[in-house]
Amino acid sequence: MAIKQKLVFRFPPSVVEQPFIYRLVRDFDLMVNILRADINPDKEGRLMLELSGSEPDYRRAIEWLKQQGVRILNLKQQITWNEDRCTHCGACSVICPSGALELSRPAMTVTFDESKCIVCELCLKACPARAMKTLLEQAR
Ligand code: SF4
Ligand code: SF4
Repeated sequence: MAIKQKLVFRFPPSVVEQPFIYRLVRDFDLMVNILRADINPDKEGRLMLELSGSEPDYRRAIEWLKQQGVRILNLKQQITWNEDRCTHCGACSVICPSGALELSRPAMTVTFDESKCIVCELCLKACPARAMKTLLEQAR
């Protein structure tokens, strides 16, 4: 069975320079789509990838990454929208690059489609009501 999954990978500084994408393609026969990369040799690295391939290959790859010390999070779990806090001002829908946050007309209410979110985090700063959060921020 084929699988397609958007994931966030957090790399400890000790492994950040390893060629993970090359290994995912060569050793696990996966297709890799890079959604966002934030790599700094001295700090924790962050990669947002969409992986697709056969389910057994995908599972083997995830196990291998975990063994390397990589933390893996589901992209859908990264950003949350607190509807109760939201005032539907629309500020986030203007800057959201993926269309995950949209202002519906004529109702003029904001909706959040987490499956479109690429975790750019622009909405976190733009929201005056602090209705957008990352799970990491919530855990602090
Ligand atoms: S994190 Fe980026 S893509 Fe996701 S909802 Fe916020 S602005 Fe849109
Ligand atoms: S910026 Fe915040 S308050 Fe305004 S519509 Fe977006 S989530 Fe709601």
